[in-house]
Amino acid sequence: MTQSPGSQKLIRLSKSSIGAAEKHAVMGVLDREYLGMGAEVQQLELALSHFFGRTALCVSSGTAAVHLAVQACGIGSGDEVLVPSLTYVASFQAISATGARPVACDIDPQTCLLDWKDAERRLTARTKAVMPVHYSGGIGDLDGLYAFARRHGLRVIEDAAHAFGTRQRGERVGGFGDIACFSFDGIKNMTCGEGGCIVTNDEVVLRRTQDARLLGVEKDSEKRYSGQRSWEFDVTAQGWRYHMSNIMAAIGLEQLERFPVMAATRQRLARRYDELLIGHLRIFPLPRDYSQVVPHIYPVRIRGMLDRKALQAKLLERGIQTGVHYQPNHDLTLFRDPDALPLPVTDRTFPELLTLPLHVDLTEKDVEAVCVHLKALIQ
Ligand SMILES: *Cc1c(COP(=O)(O)O)cnc(C)c1O
Repeated sequence: MTQSPGSQKLIRLSKSSIGAAEKHAVMGVLDREYLGMGAEVQQLELALSHFFGRTALCVSSGTAAVHLAVQACGIGSGDEVLVPSLTYVASFQAISATGARPVACDIDPQTCLLDWKDAERRLTARTKAVMPVHYSGGIGDLDGLYAFARRHGLRVIEDAAHAFGTRQRGERVGGFGDIACFSFDGIKNMTCGEGGCIVTNDEVVLRRTQDARLLGVEKDSEKRYSGQRSWEFDVTAQGWRYHMSNIMAAIGLEQLERFPVMAATRQRLARRYDELLIGHLRIFPLPRDYSQVVPHIYPVRIRGMLDRKALQAKLLERGIQTGVHYQPNHDLTLFRDPDALPLPVTDRTFPELLTLPLHVDLTEKDVEAVCVHLKALIQ
């Protein structure tokens, strides 16, 4: 048990939830002594493809998934990709890894999701794609975003790292649209320890991704599924060492099995937060429909918050760990662009954001304790 300085139980911001089944599955892979990409990876891809109703390809991380998706669309040097500034730096780095330029866009003040009308103002002749980020698991006006992309002939690469399991009108994110990228890092809605996947029905993107994740070695995926290797091969495109291992896939298979229960737990806890916080004069939860959204994090806006660090320190003294998602990318040295249009909504929203604890092993009592302490500190 992790202890806070005051020796009461620490309510963690996020954590993996690993049971006996995951441990047993990993031991199975270790016993079989085939740790690399093989049968378990193929099984996880089949299970995920069934889950989404579309082909899923597994890779080593969510960042790798986004990087490969952008590359597979033929986007690279000289091209631009529209992306909200309020995202993890992974989205930006994955775009710039291809040589393309991430163009920071503003967000909707209510949903904290990409505002496609703002993105439209940033279009140039070099714009090739738009990357909505499903912040906290929400998707907002995805229909409007797709219509915008269609009008301008843009690819849509969804950074769905927060939205594994989220639905739109009953259909799972990834099961419709152009390309969706998921992360299976340790604290996401479902984990492999590390990992990610690309989901699409675009055969060209699938073929390019299959090779590019294995250093560009053509048709190496099929060989590895059956425990073989390619000794004679050709390489025609830039590739990366981004494949998934059997150890990771074995964890993922068990997590996917447990996913319906884990998703319902996240939804129940987020609803409990909503019940306790909606109506407060200064604390504003994001508007999310938890019958459709499977939340990865639970950020709130705290109006007039002057010193977030001090608030976080006081909460930690009371045994509550909090987080900040995310430092806007347009403020980072690498991605700063002095000629860019301003991002007023992101600039005024970010200082008011605070992420409260949310993970599968949290209890409703924990949620209640977080809200009692937070409300006592925010008069
Ligand atoms: C986690 C995350 C990623 C990257 O996934 P990794 O598996 O950590 O590489 C990308 N975008 C967002 C918004 C994320 O939260």
